[in-house]
Amino acid sequence: MPHTDSYTRFVNKPLGKKLAKTVGLPQPVPLRRHNKGDRLISGPILVVGDSPAADAIAKQLWADDYDVRRDPGLKQPFAGIILALDDVSHPADLSDRVLEVGTALRGLQSNGRVITILRDPQDATAATDASLMAARHGIEGFTRSLAKEMRRGATTNGIVLAEGVEMSAPSAQAALRFLLSGRSAYVAGQFITVSSAAGSLPADWDQPLADKVIIVTGAARGIGEAISETLARDGATVIGVDMPSAGEALTAVMNRVNGIAVQLDITDHNAGNRLLALAEERFGRLDGIVHNAGITRDKLLANMDAGRWDSLIGVNISAPLRINDQLLAALGQGVVVENFRITSLSSTSGIAGNRGQTNYAVAKAGVIGMTQALAARLAPTEGSINAVAPGFIETAMTDAMPTATREVARRMNSLQQGGRPIDVAETIAFLHADAAAGINGTTLRVCGQSMVGK
Ligand code: NAD
Repeated sequence: MPHTDSYTRFVNKPLGKKLAKTVGLPQPVPLRRHNKGDRLISGPILVVGDSPAADAIAKQLWADDYDVRRDPGLKQPFAGIILALDDVSHPADLSDRVLEVGTALRGLQSNGRVITILRDPQDATAATDASLMAARHGIEGFTRSLAKEMRRGATTNGIVLAEGVEMSAPSAQAALRFLLSGRSAYVAGQFITVSSAAGSLPADWDQPLADKVIIVTGAARGIGEAISETLARDGATVIGVDMPSAGEALTAVMNRVNGIAVQLDITDHNAGNRLLALAEERFGRLDGIVHNAGITRDKLLANMDAGRWDSLIGVNISAPLRINDQLLAALGQGVVVENFRITSLSSTSGIAGNRGQTNYAVAKAGVIGMTQALAARLAPTEGSINAVAPGFIETAMTDAMPTATREVARRMNSLQQGGRPIDVAETIAFLHADAAAGINGTTLRVCGQSMVGK
């Protein structure tokens, strides 16, 4: 069977579990993933801290009928722990709260969630206050380290609030829901930065993309297929794009999601304009694009040839840059909506570098640069552009790796397993919702806290 992790299956059977424990081998567990209609989390949620953010979170979760506790009590089996540290101004002020969490962690359920809330260490107004900056950076270090102490599918992540942004901001609420839920199964040790109070809450959290028309490139298989399915599940109409050679597979996916199949090479110099014309003709609107199509042409630089280099750059970065130019030329002029959303696939290889992938790293780091540069252009009308950087994802690509290399790559993260295309797709869907408008110009890793990278 393709894309399966037989080791994880083995160590979750009685004999395998015993053996792994005795010999000290990795013990990955099946991750909790979202199904339509699921509650965010089941079990008590502890909210630690007494800042306005802590109160707002507790109130919001109470209102949604969650079992919220403000005190760890004795040996509670918590499903989630939220640690509000947004009011901390000196590293020495952390101890009471983090030690309280330490006690509560002993009973954290499998696939549990720990979420820290902090103020932005990049905030210019805090830049000269040494204690404050030490505290904020310290909380980042704390969050990353705690994420590495998690076991049994549990994760720790942080929500970073920019100056003046409160937990009531739509994107802060959406980030909290995303991180508590099974949608963030493979997001670990990461931060979601909410830079503004832009955006609006959906009428139905199960249909956050209702009425939206979104282009997905490379939609015929792998991660693009999962993105198409997830966007459609959340209410969007998908325009799926792929090479003519993948036409049959593309049609099958688009039939399944009730989308439109477009056979088009994205390196076509007129690709953006052609997609724009199609969106106008069929729907009269375009709400976003997911730049997912990508190729690898690995070689050490010493053995690299122009064919490999140029084809990769052409598909993975020149095409998204050109398509963005063509679509954004029409921003807010009828078809391309004002709050247009762009997401693009980067990679941990673009962040950390990878042997044999100088061309791929140029493109995937380039995606991060493109994202940062266009954020300011989209912000004034509540649009956004973000990048998603997957780590090891179980696909045909990773299935083709030599067994030993694949097994090592799979375990080199805090969750000790590979992610699935759906994990990347959930993150993309989260970023396309109206509620996420305040998250702009960021790169979010979906990598199980891979040891690769910073
Ligand atoms: P994949 O090879 O399974 O699918 C890519 C799709 O893009 C294919 O259907 C292909 O036909 C299409 N495509 C390629 N060139 C195209 C072009 N010129 N025009 C239109 N379509 C084109 O890849 P995947 O594993 O699903 O990866 C999807 C994206 O995620 C890529 O950008 C990849 O770099 C990135 N990524 C993947 C992983 C992973 O572990 N699989 C990790 C990090 C990043």
